[in-house]
Amino acid sequence: AFEAPCIRCTGASRTAVPQLILTLKEEVDRRRNLAIISHPDAGKTTLTEKLLLYGGAIQSAGAVKAKGEQRRATSDFMAIEQERGISISTSVLTYEYSGKHVSILDTPGHQDFSEDTYRTLAAADNAVMLIDAAKGLEPQTRKLFEVARLRRLPLFTFVNKLDRPARTPYDICGEIEAEFGITCCPVVWPIGSGDRFRGVLDRRSKKVMLFERGERGKEAVITNMMSVDDPALLDALGDVELYERLLEDVELLDELMEPLDMAKVFKGEQTPIFFGSAMTNFGVQHFLDSFMELGAPPLARALDVSGATAEGRASGADFQSGAIADDAEVVDPRSDEFSGFVFKLQANLDPKHRDRMAYVRVCSGTFHKGLKVKHARLKGTEITLSSATAMLGNERKPFDDEMIAFPGDIIGLNNPSGTLSIGDTLYTGGKRISFAKIPSFSPEVFARCLCPSPSKAKSFNKGLDQLIAEGAVQLLRERGEEAGGGVPILAAVGPLQLEVVQSRMQTEYDVDVKFEPISYTSARWALAGWDAVDEAVEANKLLNIRKLSDVYGRPVLLFPSEWRLNSVVGELSDKLGLRPHALA
Ligand code: GDP
Repeated sequence: AFEAPCIRCTGASRTAVPQLILTLKEEVDRRRNLAIISHPDAGKTTLTEKLLLYGGAIQSAGAVKAKGEQRRATSDFMAIEQERGISISTSVLTYEYSGKHVSILDTPGHQDFSEDTYRTLAAADNAVMLIDAAKGLEPQTRKLFEVARLRRLPLFTFVNKLDRPARTPYDICGEIEAEFGITCCPVVWPIGSGDRFRGVLDRRSKKVMLFERGERGKEAVITNMMSVDDPALLDALGDVELYERLLEDVELLDELMEPLDMAKVFKGEQTPIFFGSAMTNFGVQHFLDSFMELGAPPLARALDVSGATAEGRASGADFQSGAIADDAEVVDPRSDEFSGFVFKLQANLDPKHRDRMAYVRVCSGTFHKGLKVKHARLKGTEITLSSATAMLGNERKPFDDEMIAFPGDIIGLNNPSGTLSIGDTLYTGGKRISFAKIPSFSPEVFARCLCPSPSKAKSFNKGLDQLIAEGAVQLLRERGEEAGGGVPILAAVGPLQLEVVQSRMQTEYDVDVKFEPISYTSARWALAGWDAVDEAVEANKLLNIRKLSDVYGRPVLLFPSEWRLNSVVGELSDKLGLRPHALA
């Protein structure tokens, strides 16, 4: 048993558990870690906020964005996010709920930030896909689902906005199954929609929960909870048509839908699906309670066996999903030795201090202030983690001597000299280990990045270095200029990434940068190296294709069109070792 309490937000929590001293295994088992993915406007901010509200981590839901009044939930904190109403950076929110330690990882909804989403999903053990009941699957739902599938996380589905005119639940389940090839298992089933949305049926207990619309921002009141077989239900519903449809649905669902099978959920073959309305609180608490029960605790993590750390990166191993192959070597979260990996870097959270933070997901053992760990990429060099930040509720607090972090928790480490990069593994114990790497995505937008004011060159370089390290965009240069000099070329998955760079350079480094777009549409790494590229150039095979170099000096080819890309890939893919992704 541990002497010290774990990090928990007892102060703010309505359902605070007494500071019991639990074993590592118990602490792991009570952790629930969830990333939310959705198309913008499906209600992610609202749901996140409601989940926090139920957890007592915030006191009121007044921060919900209203039209015209651009107030955002606590999870969106960067200026540009507020201006544009989009979520860029991932924030971590934690709280205690019914004896469990919950972490919610907010992810950017916009496709331009898919990479950030992927990194966050690397730190998550579960994901929930949020869908607008009127719109069904939207472009970003599709993209983000693909990203989540790469990680093969247990995926829950919450169909939102049932208080508005909605498509039928059958229709939505059918669409998910047809498009994503994953079966839906409704854990709850909605009763009506729009003005007639009255509540949900919990299919496992056969209990009907009827809601009363709460005041805006307040918890919904369950006015009634009764068995679906209770004849009094008709009166309680006061709607013959809804009542009859519900009884019909109950039978039909048992016939049509697969029973809930968590083994299938963990394999990514089934999604437990919930219906509700985040704004009016219908079904949110039920979702949270079910997730506490069904969600996966911190899972074993796959190690990278492709030739570990720095060497592996330079040679650019192929894109890997986070999925655990059957024969993969894994780290058990309940093992005593500490391990964790960096999934995100962020600078200047507090504009008054030039802080640089590396977010680490703890994977095994325990973390406390002053822990001596080894840095896998630096060949096991020991570093002492003397200053760390804990995520408590929606705040960050420095670790004191009492606090302990457990597997599943996210901690922030000070990273002033940039020793920690995305994907780095930290560990204790004699055996050098490295977790599976985090890939970068294939860029599709390219621009020369200019610093019009020569007197600002130093800040320009400093800012750019930091943003590149954070993975905000990728940096390419002309061959031979890898060490600096020349005009850097920024490569992004989407144009908003460039806007973020521009805005952050302005606000955080006081530099106005200018972009000159260059019109190429896609990129491929040529991992066979420069000799192979030169050979192809001599044979006149790379006309109209721009040859640049990434930060590791590896050749990157930019293609002016999809057509040109396909013709080169068709002919030279093996010879050049062409890859859409390279490990950062
Ligand atoms: P995000 O872009 O996914 O974070 O979405 P928001 O949480 O900001 O929600 C987008 C809009 O939908 C806001 O105006 C919300 O008030 C509204 N909204 C969110 N959830 C619901 C809901 O359950 N019902 C209704 N009618 N509106 C909702």
